[in-house]
Amino acid sequence: MKIAVIGTGYVGLVTGTCFAETGNQVTCVDIDEKKIEKMRNGIVPIYEPGLEDLFNRNKNEGRLSFTTNLQEGIKDAKIIFLALPTPPGENGSADLKYILKVADDLGPILDQYVVIVDKSTVPVGTAELVSSHIAKNATVEFDVVSNPEFLREGVAVEDFMKPDRVVIGTSSEKAKNMMNKLYAPLVRQGNPVIFMDERSAEMTKYAANAFLATKITFMNEIANLCEKVGANVDDIRRGIGTDSRIGKRFLFAGIGYGGSCFPKDVQALEKTSKEFDYEFKILQAVMDVNEDQKTKLIPRLKEYFGGDLKGKTIALWGLAFKPYTDDIREAPSLYNIKELLEAGCIIKAYDPEAAANVKGVIGDVITYTKGPYEALKEADALMIMTEWPQFRTPEFDVMNVLLKNKVIFDGRNLYELDAMKELGYTYYSIGRETVK
Ligand code: NAD
Repeated sequence: MKIAVIGTGYVGLVTGTCFAETGNQVTCVDIDEKKIEKMRNGIVPIYEPGLEDLFNRNKNEGRLSFTTNLQEGIKDAKIIFLALPTPPGENGSADLKYILKVADDLGPILDQYVVIVDKSTVPVGTAELVSSHIAKNATVEFDVVSNPEFLREGVAVEDFMKPDRVVIGTSSEKAKNMMNKLYAPLVRQGNPVIFMDERSAEMTKYAANAFLATKITFMNEIANLCEKVGANVDDIRRGIGTDSRIGKRFLFAGIGYGGSCFPKDVQALEKTSKEFDYEFKILQAVMDVNEDQKTKLIPRLKEYFGGDLKGKTIALWGLAFKPYTDDIREAPSLYNIKELLEAGCIIKAYDPEAAANVKGVIGDVITYTKGPYEALKEADALMIMTEWPQFRTPEFDVMNVLLKNKVIFDGRNLYELDAMKELGYTYYSIGRETVK
């Protein structure tokens, strides 16, 4: 089947590449000329494990092409995916300007029946809105389907190729059959394709993200209380995670959630609730707690250095909002960098993938090192922001020599307390006793 994907970011490029992998003819459309040029030259513009191989294979075999021209991109397409940004607007609700612009542009250039699929995370009612924008200038029949994406950055290819479920919101039988056919190769193991109406599909995505953000935040609050009552959040996690009603995943306490989805989606759902005259109390609490959680280690750092951080050199391990991605949107590291700089610190940071993106946003106000140990040279303390696996079993012998003080502020609970005691470190983590 010939398909077009409009917007080739994390979701669009993975969607396009994976559908090419299952034999479809895919054209990716983006307004970013540099991005399109890079992809034409075989360069994948984002870091996502496994994507490069798939991308090159499908590009080389002629199933994946790129253009900045919308009309050229949708030519002969039976299905058009919209994988466009939906950032928070001024009042916190999802800004639909990118989606509606493309909807307006599509209307006059459609020349045969086509299914237009909202892959972006969009508020309830967007499928109807997109439909009305296209209809203004369309001369052919079309259907707008809501097909929210649940992939996780860092394992996006795997999530897309083997989804837990596929949610499709449509009231059109014709669109349903086409979507079923398109997704069939990805759900051969029996994972469900769940059909529903458009509004329910749109809500499903927000419900999923808001639930996960709430689960993390709940654990962060338990961790904060653990610190006060003298309990260990890791033990609590094991103790409750084994209950099948709770489940083991998403129970790790830390310095808050970030990324391009949870913060904006929780906020947008709260706005939707308000618009519909419903006060979604939990969501406001989730946002408030997460806001405080992100910079939770800073007061401890200040306390350790006697209240004054001026002139202290802090090594940061991890900049990405989570491991296996170069995405830094709403990353807790950025909030910590801001506070550390305001307090007069010098920062040396290492991240295996995300340094260039941070540099693109804040420039050279911090030093970016080539390896984790280089960041420790002459540093007064180490702070851990992201749980990249290479930070889990570092060479403590090497660290001992490089760091000026044997002190770690760990926002991701990477190390065992006993091990840190034995190594003679002062070790601050989240929801656990401080090792001194
Ligand atoms: P992104 O910012 O990485 O990519 C969006 C792309 O759209 C960019 O390349 C941009 O240049 C392009 N674009 C903007 N306007 C355009 C236009 N008029 N025509 C063509 N291209 C245009 O965004 P993303 O992270 O891929 O997210 C896209 C949507 O998917 C959002 O609604 C997001 O909430 C949702 N989502 C994201 C994830 C994730 O993990 N990133 C997961 C699930 C859902």
